[in-house]
Amino acid sequence: MGECTFIKKNSEKCASPALKGDEHCFTHSNRPEVVERRELAHREGGYCGKLPKIDSSEWVELKTLDDVVLFLERTANEVRTGKIDRGRANTLGYLTNILLGALEARDLDTRVEMLERVVIMRKGH
Ligand SMILES: [Zn+2]
Repeated sequence: MGECTFIKKNSEKCASPALKGDEHCFTHSNRPEVVERRELAHREGGYCGKLPKIDSSEWVELKTLDDVVLFLERTANEVRTGKIDRGRANTLGYLTNILLGALEARDLDTRVEMLERVVIMRKGH
């Protein structure tokens, strides 16, 4: 698969991966079926070319279950008030889900470790 040959306003090449049988990527293809899919994606909010700027200094700690719950509450409200788009909210939901799994696994690890220590102590090591 080649690179998209589209030249951007700043005269740089797009360089996103081109679609199969196309010299352009999903964003720049002129093929009617791709244009249609692109417009649909825009409407559905699944694909968004330009996202609203987010303050990058706004670092969110997500180390505990409480952090995640607070984060989800905030995100839900931001979606409700239209502060963030659906596409981004979907991604955040997806990532939060993975994070919850990881937090659970970590807690389980800690518990297993504690149990192992108890067993070793009982063996008189
Ligand atoms: Zn392109």
